[in-house]
Amino acid sequence: MSGLRLRIVVKGAVQGVGFRPFVWRLAQELDLGGHVRNEGGAVIIEVEGFRTAEFLTRLGQEHPRAARVDQVAFEPCEPLGESAFNIRESRQGSRPDVIPDLATCPDCLRELFDPASRFFGYPFVNCTRCGPRYSILERVPYDRAHTTMAAFAMCAACRAEYDNPGDRRFHAQPTACPACGPALSFSDASGAILDASPLTLAAAALREGLILAVKGLGGFQLLVDATRADVVARLRQRKHRPDKPLAVMTRDLAAAQLCAHVSPQEAELLQSPAAPIVLVASKAGALAANVAPGLLEVGLMLPTTPLHHLLLRAVEFPVVCTSGNLSEEPLCIDNAEALQRLGVVADRFLLHNRPIRRALDDSVARVIDGAPQVLRMARGYAPLLLPMAGPPAMAVGAHMKNAPAIRVEDRAILGQHVGDLENTLALDALRQTAADLRQFFHAVPEAAACDLHPDYGSTRFAAELGLPVLPVQHHAAHALACQAEHGLDSALAVVWDGTGLGPDGSVWGGEFLQIRGTRFSRVAHLLPFRLPGGDAAARDARRALAGLEGAQGPSAPLCSSVGRLFDGFAALLGLCGPQSYEGQAAMLLEAAVAPQRADAYALPLADGQLDWRPMLAAARKERETGVAAAKFHNALVEAILAVARTVGEQRVALCGGCFQNRYLTERALRRLREAGFAPVIPRRVPPNDGAIALGQLAALTGDADVPCRARPH
Ligand SMILES: [Zn+2]
Ligand SMILES: [Zn+2]
Repeated sequence: MSGLRLRIVVKGAVQGVGFRPFVWRLAQELDLGGHVRNEGGAVIIEVEGFRTAEFLTRLGQEHPRAARVDQVAFEPCEPLGESAFNIRESRQGSRPDVIPDLATCPDCLRELFDPASRFFGYPFVNCTRCGPRYSILERVPYDRAHTTMAAFAMCAACRAEYDNPGDRRFHAQPTACPACGPALSFSDASGAILDASPLTLAAAALREGLILAVKGLGGFQLLVDATRADVVARLRQRKHRPDKPLAVMTRDLAAAQLCAHVSPQEAELLQSPAAPIVLVASKAGALAANVAPGLLEVGLMLPTTPLHHLLLRAVEFPVVCTSGNLSEEPLCIDNAEALQRLGVVADRFLLHNRPIRRALDDSVARVIDGAPQVLRMARGYAPLLLPMAGPPAMAVGAHMKNAPAIRVEDRAILGQHVGDLENTLALDALRQTAADLRQFFHAVPEAAACDLHPDYGSTRFAAELGLPVLPVQHHAAHALACQAEHGLDSALAVVWDGTGLGPDGSVWGGEFLQIRGTRFSRVAHLLPFRLPGGDAAARDARRALAGLEGAQGPSAPLCSSVGRLFDGFAALLGLCGPQSYEGQAAMLLEAAVAPQRADAYALPLADGQLDWRPMLAAARKERETGVAAAKFHNALVEAILAVARTVGEQRVALCGGCFQNRYLTERALRRLREAGFAPVIPRRVPPNDGAIALGQLAALTGDADVPCRARPH
């Protein structure tokens, strides 16, 4: 063969997603010679023949949907007269391939429901474009022997597909079929296996209104009929989760559209390979009212595995699909452990014998300001890799929404959501996840970073590591995480959340931090008020109100938290008293906002402090709750604008848990843009404390000068 020979380097998330077989088939079709191989984090292709230009075009257009192509570079090279095209064995790079789990692809879905396919009705069908990855991987490189599928010997038919470069299952490490792969079983809460079709029994249990525990991809989930308030109430009672919204799984997009208003972008996110829970505007009456009480949005997801597809098609209704744990405990991943720990919650268990290597909760995401944003980073997204120069290090994260991170070879690797560190089981889960990150990525950290707060479970864990530990102020960590994600050099970071210890010993949370390179300064903040009960005030919105009203003596700690300001206003408007989950009062206040109002309360800026007192007085006289809620939100947005104008940085980063508030965030982005600023929000890392470890790592680069990082005592 002659013609042109090209050497093509494709960078991005291109390994373990069926990229090489795709390249092989394309080269065959276009009659090209050459080879393809993985090297480091890239795919290297050499093609030779007369249709190389067409190859390049189609490479960009038709690659597997789970791949993310960041860069394609090519250069001509000397033709070798090659006519055959080969897939070469991967050269062992020093950097391990990391592949998140992928939801069932359209081809596997077709086979799942095709009576003529040997995969018909098989709950574990997968291929190079979909299926379990990180959740079953013991260690790299990504090879069947290194997964929990090692115990299952492939049958002749699976082996033939696995060895055939022209097949969709060429080197599909977890491939399996009914003849050789994992199988389902079904048991009652006592662990007694029932001898009938597990799927039929599971569907019947859901129809009867029972609570079903399902061994999913990255851990157990609890399922109930989402249209029946009585069974949702029973689940809430047994799980000790009175109000926190529950996610719902529907059989397909059409069914999701019956429960919610799903935009085209939201549909794309729901159907993406990561297949997260997506927050969407709910439609009244489609789901039981106690699925997401008092809120305008509901978390929806589509089936993520063949097992879920089969189950959801076997029942006629959407199902609540929530983490298989008791409130504030880690996710169960093991059959015996699940039977023991979830026996008090679930009536029936749908089990299988493919072991889960590490717990990965369902991720939560949304479309905001026209693009996706991750709110809980786990299955389908974890681990997240970002370039970050610096010595090998470990960061242990915050106390709530904990997720640890490590840095190795100038990459920051943010681990999956662990959860709130409220008990020893959760702290053990952090220990495990941190150890797993070190082992998996061959990291030997030289230093560690933790939060400034001495009582966080994560801070205590950092002390166990036997490394020098740098305490990093909470809001500086938020800003640094956003800076790391977006590569910001100088910016104004608006960091608003519920609570974080300031270097002065007070509770921060309404912070404006100016970043210039590695230098930080606190340029403005919310006027502090006394917070009765300190951190415990988060559990009852009325405490924050008492603080705002000055009903407290000087013994209560001072706080500048916008999260607590939300609590206080929610209590003032009678929307919330005791909170049964983090952010409840703020979410109810957001849901109360009267639409289409541009007016705002006065929230004057004086001496770098936002004075909320005129706003409190005005809200007290307001007749309509919705109007008060709107003017409160609008006042906060105008305050951001006022500070941004004073500081004069073009880039304005909005981060911290308060920016999970859609109304606040979208309005702030719009107003900032109108005024000529270039605002950014976290996208690939959560705006909440799930991002803290990434910021802590960034503080460990050696030259970072974060003035608020010294321990106060
Ligand atoms: Zn597939
Ligand atoms: Zn087989």
